[in-house]
Amino acid sequence: MVAQNILLKEEENIDEAKVSVNEHVIGTKKLYIESYGCQMNFADSEVVASILRTNGYSTTSNLEEADLVLLNTCAIRDNAEQKVRTRLSSLNKNKKTNPNLKIGVLGCMAERLKTKFLEEEKMVDLVVGPDAYRDLPNLLEEVESGHKAVNVFLSREETYADISPIRLDSNGVSAFISIMRGCDNMCSFCVVPYTRGRERSRDPHSIYNEALDLFEKGFKEVTLLGQNVDSYKWSSETEKYNFANLLEKVALISPELRVRFSTSHPKDITDEVLYTIKKYDNICNYIHLPAQSGSSRILGLMNRTYTREWYLERIHKIREILGEDCGVSHDMIVGFCTETEEDHLQTLSLMDEVVFDYGYMFFYSERPGTPAAKNLKDDVSLEDKKRRVNEIIDKQRQHSAIKNQMSIGKVFRVLIEGESKKSKADFAGRNDQSKVIVFPRKAYKKGDYVNVLVNSCTSGTLIGEIID
Ligand code: SAM
Ligand code: SF4
Repeated sequence: MVAQNILLKEEENIDEAKVSVNEHVIGTKKLYIESYGCQMNFADSEVVASILRTNGYSTTSNLEEADLVLLNTCAIRDNAEQKVRTRLSSLNKNKKTNPNLKIGVLGCMAERLKTKFLEEEKMVDLVVGPDAYRDLPNLLEEVESGHKAVNVFLSREETYADISPIRLDSNGVSAFISIMRGCDNMCSFCVVPYTRGRERSRDPHSIYNEALDLFEKGFKEVTLLGQNVDSYKWSSETEKYNFANLLEKVALISPELRVRFSTSHPKDITDEVLYTIKKYDNICNYIHLPAQSGSSRILGLMNRTYTREWYLERIHKIREILGEDCGVSHDMIVGFCTETEEDHLQTLSLMDEVVFDYGYMFFYSERPGTPAAKNLKDDVSLEDKKRRVNEIIDKQRQHSAIKNQMSIGKVFRVLIEGESKKSKADFAGRNDQSKVIVFPRKAYKKGDYVNVLVNSCTSGTLIGEIID
């Protein structure tokens, strides 16, 4: 199974697992947590680490010293699940050398497979779904007393609003904040509504407080996370918030705090959100707007509830309100059930019309239990899926190169996120459009904002120098 992404963020790779950091707390039990999949999962692992800290665990990046290993899993495509299976078999040897080691599986794959996991993977002690993390201390007690433990209850209310996440793998500059959980959209290919349950929005005051706390601790950028942030809604007797209102509330914390968000849904992104982005310089000019296909027929079968024309109208509005410089990226699935060469050509032509800055491209992977798996035939051959995904990847490469070339000679305000991976002499940071720029460090430090003149580029990265 191929899942390809063309990214501008040099250190980002959606196919890589993230591992917990060393906390060096003496006298505590050690938790090693490995997270797969989307940013929501990484944010959830930070909630889990927080819940377990109050129960005597500190995190480690060293598997050998762990008392508890948790894999926070993804079920979005079959290859994501296969990766977890392979990882679990490799953990067998750790269990052999340390028979007291407990192994737990969290997240979407745990939710999808439930108790079946315990039958299929004998070394697993604990299976916990995304809404049951508060129960971890009790479940661990059960495991300590020699039993296997499972909680895959999906809630209609849980948002973990009161839990202050422990930042794992943080650069100390940017952090993720979950603003909602679950999804009500029922795209026919997608397992998320079944593994993460119904959509619910988190109290805006707790989101604000979390962002403010991060800012006071020196963080300079927050990314508001949800499967469909544009359908954020929260109300009490006296207040009502939609996503535009929430964005504004967080942006007002300080002009020095950058605000990003992901993921937007084409059917829900409003002009009000676009005008809010325009109003505040610290809300980044970048929108991740998954298209999934350029063919209205396929979009209908996917139950995306918009057409090609609707999608292009939204892009037109983005350009009209935010200008040509607003960064736009996409997700695209090729080889969905019944997709013809004509449908595929429409996807390529949509890409030509928009010229995205970058994108995440996948070929369709049938997920058990989804409407597509129940009602449609996964009838595009693997060979065609692979060819089509390569064609859209090639197209995106050309477009990313065009977009990057257009940045040459321009000056951008860049937030320094840390050292460049390739050279200690360089810093890497992102501009307003979320493009990664690498430049010589000079006398600046991580977390500073600098103006960078772009001199050249590769297909994935802009290269420049600080203009003092
Ligand atoms: N909520 C987001 C949205 O609707 O745009 C996306 C969430 S999903 C975690 C990320 C991406 O995975 C989707 O946008 C889609 O492109 C891809 N995806 C989801 N289900 C898939 C499947 N069954 N096969 C291949 N790709 C899939
Ligand atoms: Fe899945 Fe669609 Fe919800 Fe995104 S909006 S999580 S693709 S069901």
